Amino acid sequence: MSCPARGITEDQIGFLKDAASDAKELLNRSRDIFGDRAAVLSSFGAESALLLALVAETDPAFPVLFLNTGQHFPETIAYRQDLARSLGLTAIKDIGPTAEALHDRDPQNQLWAFDPDACCALRKVEPLNLTTSGLDALITGRKRSQAATRHRLEAVQQEPDGSLRINPLADWTPEMIENEMTRRNLLRHPLTQLNYPSIGCAPCTAPVGEGDDPRAGRWSGLNKTECGIHRPS
Ligand code: SF4
Repeated sequence: MSCPARGITEDQIGFLKDAASDAKELLNRSRDIFGDRAAVLSSFGAESALLLALVAETDPAFPVLFLNTGQHFPETIAYRQDLARSLGLTAIKDIGPTAEALHDRDPQNQLWAFDPDACCALRKVEPLNLTTSGLDALITGRKRSQAATRHRLEAVQQEPDGSLRINPLADWTPEMIENEMTRRNLLRHPLTQLNYPSIGCAPCTAPVGEGDDPRAGRWSGLNKTECGIHRPS
């Protein structure tokens, strides 16, 4: 499982896996091993504050990536600023499509309406791939409990290119996350008060009804459940 081309050894992977059940320690070890060649990917969505709080405790200068698709709710853009300030995070970087790519492939800004997979590729998958090609590890807030496509998610996973995806909250349940966010009195995304338990781009996110799956409002009515930046686990 080691990746000599990237210099990631089996000992390092084993050291990370030994901390799989301790989110804070897993972040500490990731920062120690990889330095700025590990970054956190955050949507600044409904549950993002917990992972970001742990990241800020590990190192306020831990690199954090935000996929700025240009299609976010204004509330998300404001929350990104407010949450970063409240946690003291100092190294948040926006990534996204170039102006040229948007002009060439989505000049009317309507691609989401007739080809959402192409829109996600343009605005999310390609910009993230470009950025992560220079990283050894990408840290995400994904949880096994979130979706059927994540039911085998592990805390430390190796990608086909040898890099790692590290998921410190992989085995956290919704109840554990809610309790810890409450205990820490973390700043909440304002749309969570309006029945948005999962928040992505504005055109592709709707509020959900009582008892619905939390991700039911994402690409509602379409046969699409993921944007494609993560492989199914
Ligand atoms: S979630 Fe919707 S608006 Fe955002 S990139 Fe994907 S298709 Fe486009």
